Amino acid sequence: MKTPRILIIYTGGTIGMKEDPDTLALVPFDFSQISQEVPQIRKFGYEIEADSFDAPIDSSDAGPKLWIKIASHIEKRYNEFDGFVVLHGTDTMAYSASALSFMLDNLEKPVIFTGSQLPIGMLRTDGAENLISSIEIAASRGLDGSPMVPEVCVYFQNQLFRANRTTKYNAENFHAFSSANYPPLAEVGIHIDFNTRLINYPSQRGWPLGVNTSLDTSVISVKLVPGMSESGFASICATPGIKAIVIESFGTGNVPSDEWFVKPLREAAARGVLLVNVSQCAAGKVDMDAYANGRVMKDLGAVSGYDATFESVITKLYCLLGTHKDLNMVKRLMNMNLKGEISKK
Ligand code: ASP
Repeated sequence: MKTPRILIIYTGGTIGMKEDPDTLALVPFDFSQISQEVPQIRKFGYEIEADSFDAPIDSSDAGPKLWIKIASHIEKRYNEFDGFVVLHGTDTMAYSASALSFMLDNLEKPVIFTGSQLPIGMLRTDGAENLISSIEIAASRGLDGSPMVPEVCVYFQNQLFRANRTTKYNAENFHAFSSANYPPLAEVGIHIDFNTRLINYPSQRGWPLGVNTSLDTSVISVKLVPGMSESGFASICATPGIKAIVIESFGTGNVPSDEWFVKPLREAAARGVLLVNVSQCAAGKVDMDAYANGRVMKDLGAVSGYDATFESVITKLYCLLGTHKDLNMVKRLMNMNLKGEISKK
């Protein structure tokens, strides 16, 4: 088999920082010199290149502009490499990685997002292991020579997750990500154990990579809290120009049944705004038939978020609204499992 070629794309975040010896402040280091910072990666014997985006950013500043930049960069260099490792701040990594999973079609190569809680230039960093294992996963191939994980993923602390199933759930622990509704695609110990039954493999090979860069962010989300401002809710629902309202509901998709809540949503739906019901619970799924308070959303015509993460619902909406003018089509596709984001056929 030929030597794997891996491209590292550094977008920003803690992983790419090191202490400036004079000021002790954290500053981004030159990623083209990655093998000086993490010399172990030379031992793989792979051909590894690193591209760094100008002005690396804190991922709190990330959004569609960055996602398009990452997707376009992968598209540009797709034929030159066997796998891609995207280094990204952890704060919004689950959004960016989810977005990429919807933006890339016919993907046949691994795109592994990773980052770290401590800068790579620090002694106790988790960044070196996250980077090294991500590279190895991106380069892993089956007996037939095809990639083990031709999906967009997040790798963190010995676990490889499907990107659109992940959430950052811990701000301090090295175990920063979880995938409550879908098991890891691989677990890393002495060996890398790939759960091949859980990985999506392309049904047809050889199709050109499709990159969808038209995203429409006319989406508003509201996290329900008991006793929330009724007038505030009404004015959010009346926001001009919005195409979808995502309600972060309680439990299995339950919402208040009072008129102050129902009326603004009924009016929004009458204007053609798509309503989506996502649970605030990290695990489990929306079932709008379980309680009368869930039926409220169903009667309003809301789409179920099923067991999707909030991050995947938002980014899926951006992608679908960007490509389809017809909101009925967007609604139909929201109900479908497109990239393994929901446990539904
Ligand atoms: N604030 C940083 C970011 O998301 C945190 C990190 O990289 O872990 O860019």
